[in-house]
Amino acid sequence: HVAVFSDISDRKALEERLQFLAQHDHLTGLPNRNLLRLRLEQAVESAMERGAGGINPVALLLLDLDHFKTINDRFGHLEGDRALMAFAQAIKGQLRASDAVGRLGGEEFGVLLPVTTLAEGLEVATRMLHSIRALELMDDAGHSYRVTTSLGVSTFRQSDRSLRDMLDRADQALYLAKHRGRNQVASLETL
Ligand code: GH3
Ligand code: MG
Ligand code: MG
Repeated sequence: HVAVFSDISDRKALEERLQFLAQHDHLTGLPNRNLLRLRLEQAVESAMERGAGGINPVALLLLDLDHFKTINDRFGHLEGDRALMAFAQAIKGQLRASDAVGRLGGEEFGVLLPVTTLAEGLEVATRMLHSIRALELMDDAGHSYRVTTSLGVSTFRQSDRSLRDMLDRADQALYLAKHRGRNQVASLETL
């Protein structure tokens, strides 16, 4: 498509639109990996700046839908897409204004919780686990089905050299949740 933009405000609207598209996931409308990463960097930075007697807590949740391939296989890719949209809405419904959620790719999502302790992060993760479990989905033919998710939780630590450390721990925690049987929350950190 070719469009001619006659004045500055049209052009500005286009630029904003392009900026939005570059930073958001097309399917769910959520921030994409790049934008969530930016938010994480900002949160970790301000956590380190503000805490005079230590860092302010920041929690990170990684979510990955369980056996999602079988959803696609059973109901088709289009229904899989719809399940992903419903999943995204369910997560969003659990967040505060200061929290940020993003689609990291495929059926993986990340949630940033600023000023949140490990205990609080685990609580939010458990709430999400239950709200996903409670989702009742239905395909075009009227077959109802459910999805479950595994969640890995980590927090930024004073000893962390970078954001990478917190991301790695969340990733390992997610792997642990999968390994332990899925449909659960895991963390490498202890209360
Ligand atoms: P696990 O419990 O180990 O996570 O199993 P899984 O089947 O969810 O994991 P795996 O990574 O093997 O498969 C992910 C599947 O998600 C494969 C792919 O077809 C599907 N998927 C990824 N992105 C999309 C998407 O945008 N739409 C749909 N419908 N499916 C997607
Ligand atoms: Mg999966
Ligand atoms: Mg996956």
